[in-house]
Amino acid sequence: MPVTRDEILAVLGKITDPISGTDIVAAEIVRALTIEGGEVRFIMEVASEHGLAMEPVRAVAVRAVESLPGVSKVSALLTAHTTKAPPNLTIGRHATPQAGPTKPAGVKTVIAIASGKGGVGKSTVASNLAVALAALGKRTGLLDADFYGPSQPRMMGVTGRPQSPDGTNMIAPIAHGVTMMSLGLLTKDDEAVVWRGPMLMGALQQMMGQVLWGELDVLLVDLPPGTGDVQLTLCQKTELAGAIIVSTPQDVALLDARKALSMFAKLNTPIIGMIENMSSYICPNCGVEAHIFGHGGAALEAAKQGMPFLGEIPLDLAIRLAGDDGTPIVAAKPDSPQAQAFIGVARGLIAKGLV
Ligand code: ADP
Repeated sequence: MPVTRDEILAVLGKITDPISGTDIVAAEIVRALTIEGGEVRFIMEVASEHGLAMEPVRAVAVRAVESLPGVSKVSALLTAHTTKAPPNLTIGRHATPQAGPTKPAGVKTVIAIASGKGGVGKSTVASNLAVALAALGKRTGLLDADFYGPSQPRMMGVTGRPQSPDGTNMIAPIAHGVTMMSLGLLTKDDEAVVWRGPMLMGALQQMMGQVLWGELDVLLVDLPPGTGDVQLTLCQKTELAGAIIVSTPQDVALLDARKALSMFAKLNTPIIGMIENMSSYICPNCGVEAHIFGHGGAALEAAKQGMPFLGEIPLDLAIRLAGDDGTPIVAAKPDSPQAQAFIGVARGLIAKGLV
């Protein structure tokens, strides 16, 4: 019998965190737990000043999981975040005037990942594409500009507030080889973002300009769904290589995707192509392929609009579970067909010379 997530969390939940006095699961030290056959991986995230004190706890945690039936290998990585004061940012300020479109210093290419409506898997595609590009040797960044529902911290398994060496600029954390930043790292989980348009624009400008991205071949920007202020600002203020539109195959999603396409056209932002997500579903029990949201709609739409079709991603439970766990499927199971679908799209972008 393969080991389950609950069994692992149960044994880890018996280990005390010497710093908080509660157990290491309740103290949210255990992160990004993945189980692949008998192989268990997780991260233990602790404040940097507690790194040394936590090493013996890590060793105990590894032994506890190793003792479970069905476990063949355990790797637990200790990562540190700082508890220093968060950067003194005025995220949410109004936008400041800027001459022409620019790119963050050191970033070669900026690509927007957009969708006409929410829930089509835009963030899932953005995180997996970023991890795939990084795995293919490209220095990759991911900016979560989905301010109303920033999901990249959860999908990429990143917690803790970013550090700021000078109180102005932020150091972006690196997860699964990708340098990433999200407003979700700067606001509390339960803090609703209720900014008006101009403030969103200011926030986007700050995230672009005040994050120390380092040298990057490509920065993917995960946009909010639809055609609002953030999209406008990004297209007007940033030197974009283009936008990738994510859609599910059914007509309603495509209708919204069409609106996004016309917005980018009006803003003279090139469309790099379309990706069809939740394209097909292979029944895990009988292996039969089903098309829950239809199939091929995005490819047809792309052909109709005369734009490249970049690939299709299956609807698959493993993709959702990996995203929920903080390790995108491309990092969790790079050889799986699901991961290969994303890697194929990444290879296509590289082959086109875009990245
Ligand atoms: P969006 O950014 O467009 O709002 P998300 O990426 O947040 O969408 O995806 C919405 C939900 O659908 C998430 O729970 C995600 O895990 C799930 N999901 C996205 N793509 C897939 C897929 N190909 N297979 C299974 N679940 C998916």
